[in-house]
Amino acid sequence: MLVVMKALATQEEIQAVCDRIESLGFRAHPLPGAQRTAIGITGNQGEVDRGNLEEMSGVAEVIRVSKPYKLVSRDVKEDDTVIRFPGTSASIGGASLAIIAGPCSIESREQAFAIAEQVALAGAQFFRGGAYKPRTSPYAFQGLGEEALKIMAEVRDRFGLRIVTEAIDHEALELVAEYADVIQIGARNMQNFSLLKAAGRKRKPVLLKRGLAATLDEFLMAAEYIMSEGNYEVILCERGVRTFADHTRNTLDLSIVPAVQRLSHLPILVDPSHGTGKRNKVLPLARAAVAVGADGLIIEVHHQPDRALSDGAQSIYPEQFAQLMDECSRIAAVLHRSVPHGIQLEQTAGLAAH
Ligand code: PEP
Ligand code: MN
Repeated sequence: MLVVMKALATQEEIQAVCDRIESLGFRAHPLPGAQRTAIGITGNQGEVDRGNLEEMSGVAEVIRVSKPYKLVSRDVKEDDTVIRFPGTSASIGGASLAIIAGPCSIESREQAFAIAEQVALAGAQFFRGGAYKPRTSPYAFQGLGEEALKIMAEVRDRFGLRIVTEAIDHEALELVAEYADVIQIGARNMQNFSLLKAAGRKRKPVLLKRGLAATLDEFLMAAEYIMSEGNYEVILCERGVRTFADHTRNTLDLSIVPAVQRLSHLPILVDPSHGTGKRNKVLPLARAAVAVGADGLIIEVHHQPDRALSDGAQSIYPEQFAQLMDECSRIAAVLHRSVPHGIQLEQTAGLAAH
């Protein structure tokens, strides 16, 4: 169920409706939009007695949401969700594309700093790097853990980049939520429902990657798990799915971008690095992702990819990343969108001091 408030409803009227919903034993999710606020109701197995709510002051209408996902749906919130990062110009969703770049794994302070400087210069506003790695082999590099989180916190201070990193389990989630600006839930955990709920109780944006074999509905329902716990800042990410095709690591399903945008107000990014697994395919698929209308990109960049401890074969060189930014920026312009410009060194927070 959904309570649509009148355009001029006051904060008190909205609060009173939320209180009434909670007093009936349900959960209220007020979602302010450009025109009006809608209040999603969850926790109800059957019908909520709508008469109770329809008569309240400030209420325009009470409607049933027929889709299985509710808070994720455009029925609840018509306009696109834009996630902002206070104190910075970075955002995810909206006209400016969110560009997240960095190595697959944080390997050392030197490695992280070398790559962060290059991606910041090329215009990225977000730095990615794994501290906890979900590896196929238990003998492969598993990540530096908290040490990597500390290095990324230093990267944020030095270059003004927002930090995106994955929480692979509950234990990692606690630390990631403390250090990072965006909590990543990886493809292998897309249906780890207890982890999704725990991330939904954090008050940091969550980047949810599509599962290796997830349908659109399963993907949106996973996002619903996070939102149902009261965290409305969810970012979706297409990263390729498993198919019979073996010329790439995964098959990047770009058609999910307009499919998501039709059904949901949440931003959707594309990761052509994991989507293809091959360095020479990252740039063309990044261009295609921007052309299809993605809200941003996740790109693995390494200054010495042949020495990378994970995903070297799909990591592009910093020079290739600069070219990617330039080409994507020209494609974005066709769609009346933009890619952040490269920065001057002296503009980066604290850089001059080092
Ligand atoms: C990653 O971003 O490094 C990663 C492991 O991604 P995915 O969960 O999409 O495989
Ligand atoms: Mn990787």
